Formats: sequence, C-alpha cells, structure tokens
Amino acid sequence: MDCIFCKIVAGEVPGDFVYRDEDVAAFRDVNPVAPTHVLIVPTKHIPSLVGLSDSDLPLIERMVKVGNDLAKKEGIADKGYRLVINVGKDGTQLVQHLHLHLIGGRQLSGRIG
Ligand code: 5GP
Ligand code: ZN
Repeated sequence: MDCIFCKIVAGEVPGDFVYRDEDVAAFRDVNPVAPTHVLIVPTKHIPSLVGLSDSDLPLIERMVKVGNDLAKKEGIADKGYRLVINVGKDGTQLVQHLHLHLIGGRQLSGRIG
C-alpha cells in the first residue's frame, strides 16, 4: 500500500519515534509547526475518522492517552497544547492515514471555535 505512515510504522521509511506499542505509534512531524509536533497514529491503516468503525473507537482513546503522556514527557503539559485531527478535504487532511497531531511548546495562534 502506498501510504507514507504505514511505511514509517513498518520501518521502510525513517521516522523519529517517540512512542510505540502494538496498536499505536508516535513520531515527530517532518515539518514541525511548533517546538513539539508529534503525529500519533494507529499502527494499522485507517484512512480517516470518516467511516471509523465502532470497534476501532478504543484506538482514539489510546491515541489521546499517548498524546497526553507525551505532552507531559515533552514538558508542555502545564502551559498547554493542542491535539488535532484533520478530517477530509475541508478539514485539510493531507495524509490519508488517521493521525492525531500533538502541537505545543509555543503560544499557538489561530484559535478555532
Ligand atoms: P494532515 O494535514 O494530514 O493532518 O497532516 C499531515 C502531516 O504529516 C503534516 O504535518 C506533514 O508535515 C506530515 N508529514 C507528511 N509526510 C511526512 C513524512 O514523511 N514523515 C513525517 N514524519 N511527517 C510527515
Ligand atoms: Zn497507512
């Protein structure tokens, strides 16, 4: 499958991993927008939140936990951070393998909501 994140998870393309277990992996974004910018992904290929099956919902919980734990590890938990999932074209999702962005380490702008 021609999926860059599957290739990173499989070790076919280098990734700067900061977490890894059987179901979830996390590696640094190649084009960081902040001092901490980590991508947290399911190790199996799931294209996006659209069409996520109920049986895969626990993976989202796991990904959020990894994001929270990494925020603490990176020393940004107290000042704050964002956990973001972009979905589809209007949501500006560029890579079609579900991922949660952990972004922090500076004052973020462009507040949504
Ligand atoms: P999206 O817009 O799909 O939510 O975000 C995709 C993210 O993947 C972008 O922040 C982009 O910089 C990152 N990215 C794209 N290709 C690679 C890659 O080959 N390696 C890593 N580590 N990150 C990538
Ligand atoms: Zn994939």
